[in-house]
Amino acid sequence: MTRIYNFSAGPAMLPTPVMEKAQAEFLDYNNIGAGLIEISHRSKEFDEIINRTDALLTELAGIPSNYKILYVHGGAQMQFSSVPLNLINRHPSNKASYIETGVWTVKARQEAARYGNIITAASSEDTNFDRIPDFDVASLEADNSYAFITSNNTLYGTRWQSFPDTGDIPLVADMTSEFLSREIDINQFGIIFAGLQKNLGPAGLAIVIVREDLLGQALPVTPSLLDYQVYADNHSLANTNNTFAIYMMSLVLDWLKEEGGVAKMEARNNAKAKLIYDTIDSSDLYIGTAHPAHRSIMNVTFSLANNDLLGDFLAGALDRGLYALKGHRAVGGARASIYNAMPLEGCQALVDFMLEFEKSNG
Ligand code: PMP
Repeated sequence: MTRIYNFSAGPAMLPTPVMEKAQAEFLDYNNIGAGLIEISHRSKEFDEIINRTDALLTELAGIPSNYKILYVHGGAQMQFSSVPLNLINRHPSNKASYIETGVWTVKARQEAARYGNIITAASSEDTNFDRIPDFDVASLEADNSYAFITSNNTLYGTRWQSFPDTGDIPLVADMTSEFLSREIDINQFGIIFAGLQKNLGPAGLAIVIVREDLLGQALPVTPSLLDYQVYADNHSLANTNNTFAIYMMSLVLDWLKEEGGVAKMEARNNAKAKLIYDTIDSSDLYIGTAHPAHRSIMNVTFSLANNDLLGDFLAGALDRGLYALKGHRAVGGARASIYNAMPLEGCQALVDFMLEFEKSNG
């Protein structure tokens, strides 16, 4: 079979060697005569996998020893509840500030508003989230329990190029659509979380990297399985976890390490994104959606000068094995999600098609 170039925003393509390894081990993991999804989360086989995943994440992301890695249920959006439940109580003000860069931050803010006094510290809604808004950290009042950002905005193709220094106020970042795609200094954050389904593995699970001093302050009403302390105390096995998703992540991390790690991947991702952005910038047909200074290297968004051509563009792309290029309905146009697993050749194939399409429709 031929695997297509899959530009889906998520669930997204995984590296082919990872899919092959999982397939080869599916019926019989490590010669035990059973598949991994058929055995206990407390088996020695799974224990080895979760420990290896911890070690690989620590090494690849450079996670300092005063942070815990948690594997939590419910994908990224469940963290929109868990974050306030675990942190809002840090200060009697029950206050937190959100910097709005798209629907995901808006949803996170709305969810948090159930538990505390939530402030919108800045927003780029007035320009349909085509950029990261100006934001002055000095405007954050000291009694904030935390400040919240979405580091890469999947729908709009924007990202924070650098992160605000919020001092003693813990910075919480939703890194779902860019974790491990670029080098990050974990020390800048109180909490980082990411749903697995872009750069890490299957959907439905998220990783949370939390600074230890932020544990143990959850609101009394917090359900146990949303309480970070419960996850930390039980190595994320307070109940039956999604062992298969963690196993898939371990294979993705093995692959990332073999490919040279995050710095190498970042250089490759920059080159991939540049190919497409250069094509957009030198074209009369394609118009970049995101402000050039705020462009993401994971999600490249663009529209067509003549929107009537969009249907033909998407159909022609699909004919050539370029899958899922339709933009999100909140933005329209096209979007190429080019996570770590997308090879440079996939971006080149897209660019070749874009040039060909412009020639015949220009
Ligand atoms: N945050 C971001 C930045 C996302 O891109 C997404 C999914 N596209 C989510 C949150 C929601 O993820 P989930 O479906 O795992 O809840």
